[in-house]
Amino acid sequence: MSPSGPEVIKQVKAQIDEVDPADVRRQMANGAVVVDVRETEEFDQGHLPGARHVPRGHLESRIEAAVPDRDAHLVLYCASGNRSALAAHTLKTLLGYEHVESMTGGITLWKDRGYEVEIPRALSREQRERYSRHLLVPEVGPEGQQKLLDARVLLLGAGGLGSPAALYLAAAGVGTLGIVDDDEVDLSNLQRQVIHTTERIGVPKVDSAEVTINAINPDVEVVKYPVRLDASNILEIIEGYDVIVDGLDNFPTRYLLNDASVRLRIPVVSAAILGFDGQLSVFSPYEGPCYRCLFREPPPAELAPSCGANGVLGVLPGTMGLLQATEAIKLVIGAGDPLVGRLLLYDALGATFTTVKVKRDPECPICSRDPGSITDEEMGVFPDYEAFCAAAG
Ligand SMILES: [Zn+2]
Repeated sequence: MSPSGPEVIKQVKAQIDEVDPADVRRQMANGAVVVDVRETEEFDQGHLPGARHVPRGHLESRIEAAVPDRDAHLVLYCASGNRSALAAHTLKTLLGYEHVESMTGGITLWKDRGYEVEIPRALSREQRERYSRHLLVPEVGPEGQQKLLDARVLLLGAGGLGSPAALYLAAAGVGTLGIVDDDEVDLSNLQRQVIHTTERIGVPKVDSAEVTINAINPDVEVVKYPVRLDASNILEIIEGYDVIVDGLDNFPTRYLLNDASVRLRIPVVSAAILGFDGQLSVFSPYEGPCYRCLFREPPPAELAPSCGANGVLGVLPGTMGLLQATEAIKLVIGAGDPLVGRLLLYDALGATFTTVKVKRDPECPICSRDPGSITDEEMGVFPDYEAFCAAAG
């Protein structure tokens, strides 16, 4: 006759080490790794401080990622001590974890003793479904998704670059998206500014963008700035944002943005496009070069693409805007190597990406100095824009 369920548990418990919650507390202080083997809903309602989560149903497939070191001192727990006993038995006999214990009485006894419980900020059921493909990526996961939801990203421009960036940042669940744009939707924009629609021609771009973003993801709060960025408002607008996505189309504002963002130490994901060519970099103050380190002087006025209408392949700002969104997300979740100190050049006609290393300029007029010493008067110092473009004829 096969043994009954309770008998199996009894036999298993005889073959593993059980440990009292009071001892677990001491072991935690000495670096023991605590693993919660309950279901996600149970874990989300509260768990031991610092516990790693490996549901028993996924034990064999996920334990190595959660605890790669097979010699680690592991303490498993569940609600009452049975599931963790079975899990400990599996880890010991089948997976070669030598030093495994199961906590007696589970989290129920732990709580009865009045010990500390950590209640995680859990994603809602709907958020778990909406972001399920993010949750499966180890570099994002629930923590990264929470960082995205907490993040504040400012988009300068809801145009060619800002449109695709805004769409994907909104879909990714960036909690606050600021948008600065004083323009209205024009028929000639629609060839590339995909956040706007034909029926919204004449509508302020910030309003049009907000409609689309709200339709994609109600988790996102849109903060609208229907103004032109200038020296009088820039510090007030950008302060408090974690990342700035620069889709600006003119050099004077780029210099102003650079100086203000260095002063407030906010990283800027910057892209520029012309014809079939795009370039991209991340200017992270004091970590890598700033915009002025690379371009101390603006280009001659006759070469400045911002002085009139220029041709651009409609999909090119899409490509570059999405690369910007990718870098912004990496900065928020702290994954990978952001494009700091590197300039990415995309040649759409040749279908090539080239990365060039760029260095901080020790003589840089802005970032070689202490941020507090950059005065209002110095910010964005640049030849007068009207005169600059007039000179270009
Ligand atoms: Zn610099």
